[in-house]
Amino acid sequence: MRVTFWGAARTVTGSKHLLTGSSGTVLLDCGLFQGHRAESEARNRALPFNSAAIDAVVLSHAHIDHCGSLPRLVRDGFDRAIHCTEATESMLRLMLMDSAKIQAQDAEYLRRKGHEVEPLYDERDVERTLRLVRSVPYHRRAEVLPGVAVEFLDAGHILGAAIVVLDVEHERQQRRVVFTGDHGRKNLPILRDPEHIPACDVLITESTYGDRLHEERVDMEAALERAVLEEHRDGGRLLIPAFAVGRTQAVVLFLGRLMESGRIPRLPVFVDSPMSREATRIMAGYPDLYDDETRAILRRGEHPFYFAGVRYVADVEESKSLNGVREAIIVSASGMCESGRILHHLKHSLDRPQDCLLLVGFQAQGTLGRRLLDGERRARILGVEYDVRCRVRFVPGLSAHADYRELLGFTEHLSRTCRQTFVVHGESPSAESFADKLRAHGFARVEVPSQGDRFELV
Ligand SMILES: [Zn+2]
Repeated sequence: MRVTFWGAARTVTGSKHLLTGSSGTVLLDCGLFQGHRAESEARNRALPFNSAAIDAVVLSHAHIDHCGSLPRLVRDGFDRAIHCTEATESMLRLMLMDSAKIQAQDAEYLRRKGHEVEPLYDERDVERTLRLVRSVPYHRRAEVLPGVAVEFLDAGHILGAAIVVLDVEHERQQRRVVFTGDHGRKNLPILRDPEHIPACDVLITESTYGDRLHEERVDMEAALERAVLEEHRDGGRLLIPAFAVGRTQAVVLFLGRLMESGRIPRLPVFVDSPMSREATRIMAGYPDLYDDETRAILRRGEHPFYFAGVRYVADVEESKSLNGVREAIIVSASGMCESGRILHHLKHSLDRPQDCLLLVGFQAQGTLGRRLLDGERRARILGVEYDVRCRVRFVPGLSAHADYRELLGFTEHLSRTCRQTFVVHGESPSAESFADKLRAHGFARVEVPSQGDRFELV
């Protein structure tokens, strides 16, 4: 039996690990490479294996860097089952359809620059992909291939995210392979905590924060409270850019709790992003996957996402009508102000001193969110220059990835049984650093694979 690493190897995108044994070939995740455009484009276009020869896919979660190449795999000839949790299946349509739209836009952009390229995939490929999905509830063993069974445990990362436990029979011996997917954290809003990982022979672990610790005691709710109170004094609008999946629902949940308990005034809250609206609808369908705190809200007869005063904007017309609203909280995507309806709201708020742009969480270098946070006084939006007179504030977000101390806490006990460990999904320094920490905790044969590296499982 062997494993080959075709993505998220010394990097954080393109997650793809190929497990080959006497039962057949299973692909763990099929993520898109993101970041550097030309380089990612080439790697995403030419998958490095024979797609038609893969016998099954097991998917950890619906983030695009884990699932975004599935329609390409299907276009290239894969036509077997894709196994994931039920919530991941629901999330998959939203994520892949959005990705197909972006592929079409990218192809159009390149065409205008004189490069004739086909989109990586289109909506028909997504439909064909979705028809292959066989969802499995958490904690239920399912056969992937004769001799290969899977069980999904809650990873506490995004809705539906799983730690993948694979029991593989190879030459009449049983091997347990655990793939962490993206490992979440305890006490994230809405989600349950990551579950205990059972003893295994082989561990494939992520290492996004393999060399870093998160700041202690980030209290997003208290920071939001302070920001709303201070910014509301002189009236005006509060714009909160937020990612559609996870962050938007956390912001809405906190705003609802703060209003309910009277800690902030009841202001109208508009969630204005078609993707956020749909992601919220999907999350609302899985209350059994919430943590105790969030379920308690439901038991009181209230709802974490749908409460008096919050409105999910339906269409472009209604979105435009918000231009006339002078006192409100508007939550919109994208989270770093790179695209989406937030740009239209910014046009109407940037030059108003009583308005506030409230950035929640990490803003990447080069994004509009980051430049505004760094104090840029002029900003170009959709081709027009604006003076920045509004307030720009920052509220620390809660990372959905465990830091190295948390990761060690979740995996330490596996050193007793684990014969081989592979550290993936981290930039080289991060992955190497986490590999060293695992070795220091008694793990044997710890590898940091590079793209295309293949290992025999002992
Ligand atoms: Zn993820």
